[in-house]
Amino acid sequence: MPSSKIAPVQTVQLMHRKNFLGRYAGWNKIAWDYVGYVQHVRRPQDGDSVYRWVGDCAVCSNPPTYRVYSVAATNRVLKVWNTAAGVIALLGLGAILLGIFAPVDNAGAWIGSGVGAVFLGLTAIGLAIDYFGFIGPGLSSSGHPLHRLVLPDDRDLSPPA
Ligand SMILES: [Zn+2]
Repeated sequence: MPSSKIAPVQTVQLMHRKNFLGRYAGWNKIAWDYVGYVQHVRRPQDGDSVYRWVGDCAVCSNPPTYRVYSVAATNRVLKVWNTAAGVIALLGLGAILLGIFAPVDNAGAWIGSGVGAVFLGLTAIGLAIDYFGFIGPGLSSSGHPLHRLVLPDDRDLSPPA
Protein backbone atom coordinates (compact mmCIF):
# COMPACT_ATOMS: atom_id res chain seq x y z
CA MET A 1 0.00 0.00 0.00
CA PRO A 2 1.34 3.43 -0.86
CA SER A 3 0.05 5.06 2.32
CA SER A 4 2.51 2.99 4.38
CA LYS A 5 5.30 4.55 2.31
CA ILE A 6 4.13 8.09 3.10
CA ALA A 7 6.47 9.41 5.78
CA PRO A 8 7.23 12.79 7.43
CA VAL A 9 10.66 12.57 5.80
CA GLN A 10 9.84 11.15 2.41
CA THR A 11 12.36 9.00 0.59
CA VAL A 12 12.09 9.63 -3.16
CA GLN A 13 14.24 9.05 -6.19
CA LEU A 14 14.56 11.80 -8.79
CA MET A 15 15.56 10.32 -12.13
CA HIS A 16 16.84 12.04 -15.28
CA ARG A 17 16.37 10.40 -18.68
CA LYS A 18 19.74 9.85 -20.29
CA ASN A 19 18.83 9.12 -23.90
CA PHE A 20 17.10 11.58 -26.20
CA LEU A 21 15.92 8.79 -28.46
CA GLY A 22 14.79 5.37 -27.37
CA ARG A 23 17.60 2.82 -27.28
CA TYR A 24 17.16 -0.36 -29.33
CA ALA A 25 16.65 -3.21 -26.88
CA GLY A 26 15.74 -6.15 -29.03
CA TRP A 27 13.06 -6.76 -31.59
CA ASN A 28 10.15 -4.34 -31.17
CA LYS A 29 11.56 -3.01 -27.89
CA ILE A 30 12.88 0.42 -27.04
CA ALA A 31 14.50 1.19 -23.72
CA TRP A 32 14.82 4.48 -21.86
CA ASP A 33 17.62 4.77 -19.37
CA TYR A 34 17.24 6.87 -16.26
CA VAL A 35 19.89 7.91 -13.79
CA GLY A 36 19.30 9.41 -10.38
CA TYR A 37 19.66 8.89 -6.71
CA VAL A 38 17.66 8.70 -3.53
CA GLN A 39 16.79 11.94 -1.75
CA HIS A 40 15.02 12.66 1.51
CA VAL A 41 12.40 15.40 1.59
CA ARG A 42 10.93 16.71 4.82
CA ARG A 43 7.20 17.24 4.43
CA PRO A 44 5.45 20.21 6.02
CA GLN A 45 3.64 19.65 9.31
CA ASP A 46 -0.09 19.19 8.97
CA GLY A 47 -1.68 22.63 8.78
CA ASP A 48 1.48 24.30 7.49
CA SER A 49 1.55 25.64 3.97
CA VAL A 50 2.57 23.44 1.08
CA TYR A 51 6.32 23.09 0.72
CA ARG A 52 8.07 23.74 -2.59
CA TRP A 53 10.92 21.35 -3.15
CA VAL A 54 13.44 21.69 -5.98
CA GLY A 55 14.84 18.29 -6.78
CA ASP A 56 18.57 17.71 -6.91
CA CYS A 57 19.18 16.31 -10.39
CA ALA A 58 22.25 14.15 -10.90
CA VAL A 59 22.57 15.17 -14.56
CA CYS A 60 21.23 18.60 -15.43
CA SER A 61 21.15 22.01 -13.79
CA ASN A 62 17.43 22.50 -14.40
CA PRO A 63 15.72 20.15 -11.96
CA PRO A 64 11.93 20.18 -11.59
CA THR A 65 10.06 21.74 -8.69
CA TYR A 66 7.45 19.85 -6.71
CA ARG A 67 4.72 20.84 -4.32
CA VAL A 68 5.00 18.65 -1.24
CA TYR A 69 2.01 18.01 1.01
CA SER A 70 1.96 16.89 4.63
CA VAL A 71 1.35 13.27 5.59
CA ALA A 72 -2.15 14.08 6.85
CA ALA A 73 -3.06 16.10 3.74
CA THR A 74 -1.80 13.29 1.49
CA ASN A 75 -3.81 10.70 3.38
CA ARG A 76 -6.93 12.92 3.25
CA VAL A 77 -6.61 13.28 -0.54
CA LEU A 78 -6.15 9.52 -0.93
CA LYS A 79 -9.16 8.80 1.27
CA VAL A 80 -11.46 11.24 -0.56
CA TRP A 81 -10.17 10.13 -3.95
CA ASN A 82 -10.57 6.42 -3.24
CA THR A 83 -14.02 6.93 -1.71
CA ALA A 84 -15.21 8.92 -4.73
CA ALA A 85 -13.71 6.37 -7.12
CA GLY A 86 -15.35 3.51 -5.23
CA VAL A 87 -18.73 5.27 -5.28
CA ILE A 88 -18.44 5.88 -9.03
CA ALA A 89 -17.54 2.23 -9.62
CA LEU A 90 -20.45 1.05 -7.46
CA LEU A 91 -22.89 3.38 -9.24
CA GLY A 92 -21.65 1.93 -12.52
CA LEU A 93 -22.19 -1.58 -11.22
CA GLY A 94 -25.70 -0.56 -10.17
CA ALA A 95 -26.42 0.84 -13.62
CA ILE A 96 -25.23 -2.40 -15.22
CA LEU A 97 -27.49 -4.46 -12.95
CA LEU A 98 -30.43 -2.13 -13.66
CA GLY A 99 -29.81 -2.48 -17.37
CA ILE A 100 -29.77 -6.26 -17.12
CA PHE A 101 -32.48 -7.02 -14.56
CA ALA A 102 -34.80 -4.01 -14.28
CA PRO A 103 -37.50 -3.17 -16.83
CA VAL A 104 -35.86 0.11 -17.87
CA ASP A 105 -36.11 1.81 -21.23
CA ASN A 106 -32.94 1.70 -23.25
CA ALA A 107 -31.19 -0.99 -21.20
CA GLY A 108 -28.14 -0.84 -23.47
CA ALA A 109 -27.48 2.75 -22.49
CA TRP A 110 -27.68 1.82 -18.79
CA ILE A 111 -25.23 -1.04 -19.29
CA GLY A 112 -22.90 1.07 -21.45
CA SER A 113 -22.89 3.94 -18.97
CA GLY A 114 -22.35 1.48 -16.14
CA VAL A 115 -19.37 -0.12 -17.83
CA GLY A 116 -17.94 3.36 -18.42
CA ALA A 117 -18.43 4.33 -14.78
CA VAL A 118 -16.85 1.12 -13.50
CA PHE A 119 -13.88 1.67 -15.80
CA LEU A 120 -13.60 5.30 -14.66
CA GLY A 121 -13.74 4.33 -11.00
CA LEU A 122 -11.13 1.60 -11.35
CA THR A 123 -8.88 3.94 -13.35
CA ALA A 124 -9.17 6.55 -10.60
CA ILE A 125 -8.23 3.97 -7.97
CA GLY A 126 -5.24 3.02 -10.13
CA LEU A 127 -4.15 6.66 -10.29
CA ALA A 128 -4.39 6.94 -6.52
CA ILE A 129 -1.92 4.08 -6.16
CA ASP A 130 0.77 6.33 -7.68
CA TYR A 131 -0.04 9.35 -5.50
CA PHE A 132 2.21 10.08 -2.54
CA GLY A 133 1.59 13.77 -1.88
CA PHE A 134 3.97 15.27 -4.44
CA ILE A 135 2.69 17.36 -7.36
CA GLY A 136 5.00 18.07 -10.28
CA PRO A 137 6.40 16.62 -13.48
CA GLY A 138 7.26 12.96 -14.04
CA LEU A 139 5.00 11.38 -11.44
CA SER A 140 2.93 9.24 -13.78
CA SER A 141 4.19 5.78 -14.61
CA SER A 142 3.33 6.33 -18.27
CA GLY A 143 5.47 7.93 -20.95
CA HIS A 144 9.15 8.81 -20.88
CA PRO A 145 9.46 12.29 -19.32
CA LEU A 146 12.83 14.00 -18.91
CA HIS A 147 12.51 13.76 -15.14
CA ARG A 148 10.72 11.11 -13.17
CA LEU A 149 10.05 11.10 -9.45
CA VAL A 150 9.40 7.70 -7.90
CA LEU A 151 9.25 6.03 -4.54
CA PRO A 152 12.19 3.64 -4.35
CA ASP A 153 11.17 0.02 -4.10
CA ASP A 154 13.97 -0.79 -1.73
CA ARG A 155 12.57 -0.41 1.77
CA ASP A 156 16.04 -0.24 3.34
CA LEU A 157 16.49 3.30 2.01
CA SER A 158 15.45 5.01 5.21
CA PRO A 159 16.42 8.62 5.86
CA PRO A 160 19.38 9.38 8.08
CA ALA A 161 18.42 9.62 11.75
ZN1 LIG B 1 17.79 16.61 -14.87
